[in-house]
Amino acid sequence: MNVSEIFGTLVFNDTVMKDRLPEEIYSRFRDCVKKGAPLDLPLANAIAHSMKDWAIENGATHYTHWFQPMTGVTAEKHDSFISPVSDSRIIMEFSGKELIKGEPDASSFPSGGLRATFEARGYTSWDPTSYAFIKDDTLCIPTAFCSYGGEALDKKTPLLRSMEAINRATSRFLKALGESGEDVYTTIGPEQEYFLIDRDLFKKRRDLVYTGRTLFGAMPPKGQELDDHYFGTIRPRVHGFMKELDEQLWRLGILAKTEHNEAAPSQHELAPIFSNSNVAVDHNQLTMEIMKRTAAKFSLACLLHEKPFNGVNGSGKHVNWSISAGKVNLHKPGENPAEDLRFLLVIVAAVSGVDEYQDLLRLSCASAGNDHRLGACEAPPAIISVFLGSDLEKILDCYADGKDLDTDSSRTQLQTGVHTLPVISRDGTDRNRTSPFAFTGNKFEFRMPGSSFSVADPATVLNAVAADALNRYAERLEKASDVRAEAKKIIGEEYRAHRRIVFNGNNYSPEWVEEAKRRGLLELKTTVDALPRLLDEKNVSLYTRNGIFTKSELESRYEMQLENYAKIINIEARTMVSMAGKDLIPAVESYLGVLTQNALAKEKLGLKENLIPEKKLTEDISADLVGMISAREALEKARAEAESVPDNYGRALSFKNRVIPAMEKLRGFADSLEMKVDRRTWPLPSYGELMFSF
Ligand code: ADP
Ligand code: MG
Repeated sequence: MNVSEIFGTLVFNDTVMKDRLPEEIYSRFRDCVKKGAPLDLPLANAIAHSMKDWAIENGATHYTHWFQPMTGVTAEKHDSFISPVSDSRIIMEFSGKELIKGEPDASSFPSGGLRATFEARGYTSWDPTSYAFIKDDTLCIPTAFCSYGGEALDKKTPLLRSMEAINRATSRFLKALGESGEDVYTTIGPEQEYFLIDRDLFKKRRDLVYTGRTLFGAMPPKGQELDDHYFGTIRPRVHGFMKELDEQLWRLGILAKTEHNEAAPSQHELAPIFSNSNVAVDHNQLTMEIMKRTAAKFSLACLLHEKPFNGVNGSGKHVNWSISAGKVNLHKPGENPAEDLRFLLVIVAAVSGVDEYQDLLRLSCASAGNDHRLGACEAPPAIISVFLGSDLEKILDCYADGKDLDTDSSRTQLQTGVHTLPVISRDGTDRNRTSPFAFTGNKFEFRMPGSSFSVADPATVLNAVAADALNRYAERLEKASDVRAEAKKIIGEEYRAHRRIVFNGNNYSPEWVEEAKRRGLLELKTTVDALPRLLDEKNVSLYTRNGIFTKSELESRYEMQLENYAKIINIEARTMVSMAGKDLIPAVESYLGVLTQNALAKEKLGLKENLIPEKKLTEDISADLVGMISAREALEKARAEAESVPDNYGRALSFKNRVIPAMEKLRGFADSLEMKVDRRTWPLPSYGELMFSF
């Protein structure tokens, strides 16, 4: 395979456009994209025509508006290019109108009350900042999705609005500092974690099939304690999968770069090279989809759930984020960071934004699935804090406390002790892998988002809070007579006001939970705890002020997320009730039958003495079985009651407070029984088989 030859061949990218579009059309198109201006119809027609020819040459027969509704996955409706010209002939057509606007029936997508059922119409509109591509012989056109009244019904629209907000605010801020400030955007590099398990075993677990995670399962004798999987040799079948995946992603112009094993058995990670946030979001959605289908080709199942297995690490999506102006990364410190006021201001903008809007960051990572992951097994806790590293912290402390800066900022050289290895200049500080939001030298790494999430939500929040702070700074700098003095003042004031969010220690420790409480930081343990905060005055004001969400859009999102939470737990509870009733209880009953039959036979033979330990085992299993039967009934009762609560918040709360504990109780009995019942009788593949089968 010649990678440079296949790379991007399925993308209608800039090079293709430059090649195929008349020069005048191409430059008008570029101009529109740069200014964010709408395309007129003749221009759209010309592009559509060229796009269609290119797509047909590359095997496409259909086109679709590809969009990202609130389900978190992508949606598409395929139309073929055919158009009849006589009874027996067709031609392949695609108009500018079809390119820029679509009208999918929106009534089957979540809208949180924004769209009455009689107003089923929704619109998709072309996002020319993300390239069209070919998937499954279909030309896919990335689009935004909104209601008849223009309200956002998707994840892309608010993200694009936040990209405009960060562009506006940062340009203004840079100009106030006396620098040129055009073309500002944020970049994202999402590290994607996932599990791969054998597909036949996957199919035997209805919990995995219906909910993406195991709802039952005792711990195997071996978990991840030996740390022998992390960065370990990649197994041949997984290697085959990764190779095929890379190839497919490269064809789609996705910069898949790093593939390695993760900490848990059968857990892996894929990291692409970062790109513009909007493109990175689209690419990550595609990556997740292609991972799933490629896995099937290798008789594997790809699990993207945040916590497929209890007791071992869950999967996250580390969102690496920074702000760029043209080609300059504003999060990259200059030669002398302590005097680099632009850099320090951009850093305190993030610190202040993350502190002020802890709840919004937490919310951008909130889901029923991620609730299981946060705060457990090597995942950040549900408390937001920022890691800056000691060098940067020292500098900012000096500004905040009005102390003299330590002028000797020369970095020490780290001797590796092995002479053949080059001398590596020591990073500003060692990494802190426990921090939910860490500065890693030239970008921030947000580690709370869950593996199945769209990156759009975290990206939108980060863009919004940074834009808001930079706007505030710009306003002050514009009015100042001495810009540098004012900049220093802002850095000191902002850091003083928000320093409490900075924590360089171990975020996994119980002491931190106490310490965070003393500092007044929020710990929003579950999605239901976090959600009502979306509508707090300060949050609504942030989003409306920066043109990212309207109040009614936020209200609809609040309702949608509550509904979604309740639905997920409801499906999980139903799955457990069904599996316990149809699989587990019958299996235990038949094993008990064998035990009692044996005991009776032995008694007949007069082997009374030998029966004592066996009787004990029978009693044990029988007691657990009784427990399981009543726990199953209790779960079904709690589930039905929760489901019937009429309002979304009350329902979600009831699922959290009553159904989840009932699920845990049922699981407790089942997992205990799994350890006692004959392997041949137990109807589910065990954790050990799932994680160590190939
Ligand atoms: P680690 O696993 O040590 O955190 P990786 O190198 O695996 O680091 O992943 C880092 C991710 O951050 C990659 O996707 C990389 O492209 C991305 N990245 C690097 N620089 C930036 C930046 N300026 N903005 C956004 N993402 C970045
Ligand atoms: Mg990382």
